[in-house]
Amino acid sequence: MTATLPFVSDCFERFNKLCFDGALPPIPISLGRSKSTLGQIRYRKVPRAFRQPALTDFRMIISTRFDLPEEELEDVIIHEMIHYYIGWKNLRDTSTHGKVFREMMEGINSRFGRHITVSHHLTAAQREELIDRREKTHLVAAVDFADGRTGIKVLPLTGPSAKRYVRTVRRSPDVSGIRLYITRSTYFNRFPVSGAFRVHFLSPAERSIALEGSEELKNQP
Ligand SMILES: [Zn+2]
Repeated sequence: MTATLPFVSDCFERFNKLCFDGALPPIPISLGRSKSTLGQIRYRKVPRAFRQPALTDFRMIISTRFDLPEEELEDVIIHEMIHYYIGWKNLRDTSTHGKVFREMMEGINSRFGRHITVSHHLTAAQREELIDRREKTHLVAAVDFADGRTGIKVLPLTGPSAKRYVRTVRRSPDVSGIRLYITRSTYFNRFPVSGAFRVHFLSPAERSIALEGSEELKNQP
């Protein structure tokens, strides 16, 4: 299911009673479109003399980008409620998901049979879902290394960075060859586009399948 306001509010109320003894004051809840986090707690820091800043104006944002099993969505909400509890009580933790967080999380998991984790990282399947499927033109560098490894890099179509990439990479003693291709294969949609001197390693077989039907650019810079 995808998060809705009534669902998140209902979870907040239910789990506040069940897992936090109803201690948490209600906070504004909103839905967001974040691709990188399923949920977050935001707050304001108020400086105090000679003391840790006070945290105030808490609010919870849950992303609607993901279609999750109901229980997983509940776990995301409880995860955020633990952050809220720690912040609101001004408990000092060793890190974002430090000792205090983990102890509370493990307590709730074992008492209530939940599966809350410290990571908001998406599963491979969820990441796959987010990849843009639209066809577009890519400029792809196929890089071969002297040690036999092969890779690709998706470069910006315009601007000087592709030229700079090719010149610099070609000069590297580790590189045995670099070729440029123009392709509309959606396979390349998943790679970041930049002029950064990086390579994504792929097996030669995967690379040649990905580059099938693409046009090799001759007269390269
Ligand atoms: Zn967290």
